[in-house]
Amino acid sequence: MTQDGIVRRAQAVLTPNYRQAPVVLVRGEGSRVWDADGKEYLDCIGGIATVALGHCNPALVRALDEQARTLWHVSNLFYTPRAVELAEALAATTTWARRVFFCNSGAESNEAMLKLARRFHADAGHPERHEIVACENSFHGRTMFALSVTGQPKYHHGFEPLVPGVRFVRYGDAEALAAALGPRTAAFIVEPIQGEAGVLPAPQGFLAKARELTRKAGALLLFDEVQTGLGRTGRMWAHEWEGVAPDAMSSAKALANGYPMGAMLATEALGAHLSPGSHASTFGGNALGCAVAVAALREIRRVLPEAEKVSARIFERVRALATPGGRVAGVRGRGMLVGVLVRGVEAGEVVRLAREGGLLANAIGQDVVRLAPALTLTAAEADLAVDRLAAAIAAAPARA
Ligand SMILES: *Cc1c(COP(=O)(O)O)cnc(C)c1O
Repeated sequence: MTQDGIVRRAQAVLTPNYRQAPVVLVRGEGSRVWDADGKEYLDCIGGIATVALGHCNPALVRALDEQARTLWHVSNLFYTPRAVELAEALAATTTWARRVFFCNSGAESNEAMLKLARRFHADAGHPERHEIVACENSFHGRTMFALSVTGQPKYHHGFEPLVPGVRFVRYGDAEALAAALGPRTAAFIVEPIQGEAGVLPAPQGFLAKARELTRKAGALLLFDEVQTGLGRTGRMWAHEWEGVAPDAMSSAKALANGYPMGAMLATEALGAHLSPGSHASTFGGNALGCAVAVAALREIRRVLPEAEKVSARIFERVRALATPGGRVAGVRGRGMLVGVLVRGVEAGEVVRLAREGGLLANAIGQDVVRLAPALTLTAAEADLAVDRLAAAIAAAPARA
């Protein structure tokens, strides 16, 4: 079957909710993937910040294979050693988390976190504290509660009515946050770097201010680390850069390197409120995902120092492309989460040309090209990626 043939079948049978490139990927190894026609690409989007340890990482293949021969899944009527091991390892990556809930995706992780925030206040005799404050341009996932706190109206269209009681404030605006928090606020949910808004880091000090304001208002502070967590920004969790501890955080994407896996981490005081029967997930904490995630955590810790060097190289080289009036307007992000700002050309067109030139990236809006390569990207691969990106930017037609 040719690539074109598979694309035609896909377009006839899959729901058309994704804007998929006419490319069928069939194999991967490290930071390289191959399509059905045998063309090789350097993968610098990695399942959108998910394949943090590269494709078919041998340590993870081993962990998955070993677990697949031992035990797959037993439901949450019983314990498994892998889930306990992973929960302990995750909690130990933080100074504040003591309770872990497992699920299968970022949206589910946020859903659990938001439900828990309401539950916490209801248990304390304050069911009126049900409102959530979230940020404009945020992205928290597609289930109804996660969607309702996502500050991008285009995603709400046609799905109203949404979960009530959500207020939005400008990202990074501490005054607006202070004004929005009140006696009905359950929690403030925020991404340390807004990924889907175009790789936009929170202004220095904003997370600390949010901690202070939520505490004063009697509201919880929730971090969405689905995209930014697990080494993506150069620390295990992006909020470590600010030295601020939330009451809970969500994780998914890189947790099991592409094997579906999500986790919500909470403090003892908060996590204890997910009492028996209050919340659940059939697949949550299944042995396969947990085995992969245990190995992934270990590997992420191991490769992080080298990833920081490669990241510095990428930022330095992209910065050097930015010239006054030129097509590269700048670069933002941290670690292996890189937003290249383009000017006078369409980011989508740059991404298409980059793909033709053998580089996979993705466009956020018209002005940002996102690179979220594996933490295992080599310096030589980083150079090749920047070269291919620069060539695509140079070749893109001027924006009308
Ligand atoms: C990807 C993402 C989600 C949603 O994760 P899914 O696994 O697609 O449900 C939520 N929050 C952030 C910040 C994300 O980047």
